[in-house]
Amino acid sequence: MRLSRYFLPVLKETPAEAQIVSHRLMLRAGLVRQHAAGIYNWLPLGHRVLRKVEQIVREEQDRAGAIEMLMPTVQTADVWRESGRYDDYGREMLRIVDRHDREMLYGPTHEEVITDVFRSMVRSYKDLPKTLYQIQWKFRDEVRPRFGVMRGREFLMKDAYSFDLDEAAARRAYNRMFVAYLRTFDRLGVRAIPMRAATGPIGGNLSHEFLILADTGESGVFVHRDLLNMQIPDAVDFDGDLQPLVDSWTGPYAATDEMHAPALEASLGENLVSARGIEVGHIFYFGTKYSAPMGCRVAGPDGQDIVLHMGSYGIGVSRLVGAIIESSHDENGIIWPESVAPFRVALINIKPGDPSVDAVADALYADLRNAGVDVLYDDRADERAGAKFATADLIGLPWHVTVGPKGVAAGYVELKCRRTGEKRDVSVESVLSHLTSV
Ligand code: ATP
Ligand code: MG
Repeated sequence: MRLSRYFLPVLKETPAEAQIVSHRLMLRAGLVRQHAAGIYNWLPLGHRVLRKVEQIVREEQDRAGAIEMLMPTVQTADVWRESGRYDDYGREMLRIVDRHDREMLYGPTHEEVITDVFRSMVRSYKDLPKTLYQIQWKFRDEVRPRFGVMRGREFLMKDAYSFDLDEAAARRAYNRMFVAYLRTFDRLGVRAIPMRAATGPIGGNLSHEFLILADTGESGVFVHRDLLNMQIPDAVDFDGDLQPLVDSWTGPYAATDEMHAPALEASLGENLVSARGIEVGHIFYFGTKYSAPMGCRVAGPDGQDIVLHMGSYGIGVSRLVGAIIESSHDENGIIWPESVAPFRVALINIKPGDPSVDAVADALYADLRNAGVDVLYDDRADERAGAKFATADLIGLPWHVTVGPKGVAAGYVELKCRRTGEKRDVSVESVLSHLTSV
């Protein structure tokens, strides 16, 4: 993409309304623009990142055996009355009346809708187990939307729902999601730690929140030091027994401030890390909470009625864009992990209009594109070199290739790694091989 033709409205000033670094950087780098409190436009550069995050989430859900679908954003109040949550949900639910005076709502979550689909379409125990998921916008009328996309009112969530015949099978579904989450967050370039979470009236111990450690996180967290460096599982057999793997992650102490046990923590001594965290995922087994009142059951092998055991599993896809920035930036801007970078390479022409510089930069642009490398080509004629470097740093592309008159005369360009700041001169011919070997 040529920057001269792109839509990248970077801001020079730091927006006053942004309290945390990721929000400031998202506004300054032209990733999002607020439409109304907690409701955002995703501008082209931000949209590319959002799509990359979404795609990694999708690939890991698929790998774990979950099946993608899409449910409506607007739901009827009826199913929520059946589950008993319509009145309880309170003012966070955006309630709408249609032209026929039917009560509708903009979905804050989809347990009722998926349960309604499942009960009417699945009849036999032979159809189980199943885990279905979607990546869909939600609306929650948060009292205090803040921190940009981290606590929005409209936000993108991956939500999965598992259906099983009994608790033991539901636990296997839970474990598959648990492990899928470890892999997902690792691929996104962040370390998210599973922590014991409150299970509400259902009880049991099957609820974990996944949190990224960051000073600006909304939750206080207490974790055993070992969890900071645990090995992320690589080749996982999702059909095998995942319990030992899950146990190895849930053994060391980790809890949020809502759940923590000070006496246990005291016994950890030096090994206790107390910090703040951002919740990016939440997995939850809740048994028959929705399936019982909503009549979601199947016929068992002997024709008996089996009320299904369910779990639900969320990932904050849009929140993750902010959370990744919280954990990966410096004083000059964002430092995108390669896996989610909106473009891999910033190609910077510091003297557009100089024929020899243009020739090299244009040729590199064509070569990189032909090789399938996502490249943003700063060919703008009206910006100084300093401003171009500042933009490349601010928007955080992993690799910067700078083409200028001095280098071109000698046959080289400068290659910079955004993360380490390391710069080196490389020959024009070798740029591609450098970028494909790193
Ligand atoms: P929180 O405690 O942060 O309000 P929650 O526990 O209400 O979140 P869940 O119902 O568990 O949220 O939703 C699943 C995921 O969706 C959360 O782990 C979080 O990453 C994301 N999420 C929830 N609320 C918001 C929001 N207002 N803006 C952006 N992402 C959100
Ligand atoms: Mg939660």
